[in-house]
This record gives sequence, C-alpha cells and structure tokens, in this order.
Amino acid sequence: MSSCCSTPKDGTCPPQTNGPGLCPACGKKGKSVTTLTVKSLVRDHSRVSASEPYSFCRTVGCDIVYFSGESSFRKLDVKVRVGLKETEDPIPLCYCFNYTREDIRRDIQANGTTKILERIKEEVQGGFCACEVKNPGGSCCLGEVTRTIQQATRAIAVLPIPDGDA
Ligand SMILES: [Zn+2]
Repeated sequence: MSSCCSTPKDGTCPPQTNGPGLCPACGKKGKSVTTLTVKSLVRDHSRVSASEPYSFCRTVGCDIVYFSGESSFRKLDVKVRVGLKETEDPIPLCYCFNYTREDIRRDIQANGTTKILERIKEEVQGGFCACEVKNPGGSCCLGEVTRTIQQATRAIAVLPIPDGDA
C-alpha cells in the first residue's frame, strides 16, 4: 500500500517516538500516532499534552482510543466514530471523503463492484487527503477500504475474486 500522507512539505509522515506503548485497558500494543492527530480528533484538545507520545488502540470493543504514559482518551472523548473499533454500522472507513462500510456494501450489492477505491485514490493522488487530522488512526484508509471491498465482494459472490493487491 503506497503511503498517501507523504506531503510535499514534510516528507516524513509517521512520527518516530519511543515506540507505541501498551493500552491501559486491553493491554494490547498500540500504534504510534502524532500529537497532531490526537489534538485534531479529541473533543478537548487542551487535555492533549504536546510533549507526550501518544498511541492509538486498535482493539475492537476496547473503549480507549488514545493513550500516553499519563493520560488516555476514550471513545466518548473523540469526535469521530472509530471504525476499527466498531462492529455495527455506521462504520467509517475513509474519513477524508466520508465513505463507510455501508457505502461499499451497497455499491457491491447493486452493481457487483464499486468505484469507491478508485475515487478515493484519485483524490489522494490529487493531494486532497488529510488522513493525519481526520482518520483517528492517523494513517491512510486505503488498506482498510481495500480489505472491506474484498470482504463485501466475497460475501455476495461465491466465485473467488482475483487478488488486486499490488
Ligand atoms: Zn485498548
């Protein structure tokens, strides 16, 4: 998956912190996110310390979204619904252009295919994505979108689908 967040101004997208810590609630290893991501998505940005490295918990069902050594933010503290943590619709996939799992399913059920991935890619290539400040994971959604399309396609077709992963 090519990275869409390599902005022309600032080539390095993911921050190099001391590495992600373990979630205080579920104990699973988090994923490093930038302070900018946390500040952009938490309701009370003033609670986000600029000097603490934050991690994002990806565990489905775990209530903690972001945590650092000294604080944590739960689902209620975050402005958007975290698709990765949800099992019921609406499950947001692409936060920059507002596509949900339901959009993909509906498209595939109606047409057998979907152009959503291509549409997102076009925008990404045009430089219009803002994953770092819109996606709670702080990273590009294309991997998640691709996976959802594959699942939805398998769900309606018995035929094996050609693997389009490059
Ligand atoms: Zn957790």
